[in-house]
Amino acid sequence: MIISEIFYGVKCNRCGEQYEDGEHSFWSDECGAVENAMESEWIEEKGKHYCSECYEQDEVTEENTAKPDFPEHVKNLKKFFEKMIVGHSSRISEQDDYFKISKNLYNTTELNHYETTYIKEMLGDNLILIEVKKHERYSSSEATVLVKR
Ligand SMILES: [Zn+2]
Repeated sequence: MIISEIFYGVKCNRCGEQYEDGEHSFWSDECGAVENAMESEWIEEKGKHYCSECYEQDEVTEENTAKPDFPEHVKNLKKFFEKMIVGHSSRISEQDDYFKISKNLYNTTELNHYETTYIKEMLGDNLILIEVKKHERYSSSEATVLVKR
């Protein structure tokens, strides 16, 4: 007999990070998933969920506000990284004047020529740097793209 069951997870509405508590990333009910995320500094705002990187807390009022959405060109780059480049899930972080998107690649030390070309075409003047670095200890490499805000 085969049965199937539904599990629930929480994903950040802004950066796409999925909540995990170190052991689990799925729960058997919605409340369990959300409650666990909230205990780890995630917030819920108007039915959306944000990880600790994606909102700011007002120092005086302690009110939480989601950071503004990523610019369109950054969202497109993230999509490309996730769907077209083979490797682990991509990460996105932001500094005052740029966004950094990176991803660990499987068994390769460089991006294909067409991937690099596509990223350059897509970002145009917004591109700051494309770089692939080999990990010192592992056989994988990390691809990083810096993009203007
Ligand atoms: Zn986030």
